[in-house]
Amino acid sequence: MNRISIFSPATIANVSCGFDVLGLCLDSVGDEMTINTACPKGVKIKEIIGADLPLVAEKNVGGVAALALLEHLQPDHGFEISIKKNIKAGSGIGSSAASAAGAVFAINHLLGSPLSNKELVPFAMQGEKLASGSAHADNVAPALLGGFTLIRSYEPLDIIKIDAPEELYATVIHPQIELKTMDARSVIRENITLKKATVQCGNIAGLISGLYTNDYNLIGRSLHDELVEPVRYILIPKFKEIKVAAMSAGALGGGISGSGPSVFALSRGVQTAQKAAEAMASVLQDTGIPFELHVSPINPTGIKIL
Ligand code: ADP
Repeated sequence: MNRISIFSPATIANVSCGFDVLGLCLDSVGDEMTINTACPKGVKIKEIIGADLPLVAEKNVGGVAALALLEHLQPDHGFEISIKKNIKAGSGIGSSAASAAGAVFAINHLLGSPLSNKELVPFAMQGEKLASGSAHADNVAPALLGGFTLIRSYEPLDIIKIDAPEELYATVIHPQIELKTMDARSVIRENITLKKATVQCGNIAGLISGLYTNDYNLIGRSLHDELVEPVRYILIPKFKEIKVAAMSAGALGGGISGSGPSVFALSRGVQTAQKAAEAMASVLQDTGIPFELHVSPINPTGIKIL
């Protein structure tokens, strides 16, 4: 096999209470990538359709992740990468992560899968470091593994995959304003009070417990962010109104997707997720800000071979 085409999914990082440690994998939106082996060693980004992104491998998150993997595996040939971007860069649903995770997944597969998907995460994280300045795993881990992923520890890296309850659906609204991860990180406070840390611990434990026990109400009660949302929401137009609209339509809860500007809601059942989508859309319709909407089940397995 010298060529592979994959679907590399969008992801929601943080999931309200899990700043930098929780993520989930979407199913209905993602990039398509084709990777083939090539004679010269190294990585060449052959083409990018649908976005104006760097073709120089060292400046593209997919290229950087691929180069990190090649440095480790030392194959005697190189790879060419073509990307069809469906996830807009800077959307907050893991555009950069899809390229990074997709590149390492495809190359590993073409080399006979010497590494597991979990073992690929650190290489994909190198791509994320280029995009946001921090080698975070909360988008690349769910893209590679599917479901929800919890990063229990970064040093050493310890990732736990959690299957999502079957009826859980995500709604995402992406207001088309640009918000760079680096800028969204700059508003976060370094120090937090013990009281806030305690509330956050309770919520993340509740969310994980709700996922394991299929307790949708507990999932909803736990979708609160004490630490980041209260300072970051001002960067997102009509954030509070969008969230209230989703909840009024029956969503279990929601928050900022990754570092924004996308806003997500989780619902029980596709119909409620669709009602939440309509309600969230009606808020932005009044502002004239263009937006994209996605309603998706939780993708149980991550990247798919096409
Ligand atoms: P997102 O959360 O949607 O991934 P980020 O702000 O983290 O958004 O990453 C987008 C940044 O990464 C942009 O500055 C973009 O130019 C850069 N980038 C480089 N290569 C890629 C790629 N292959 N896909 C997406 N973004 C890329």
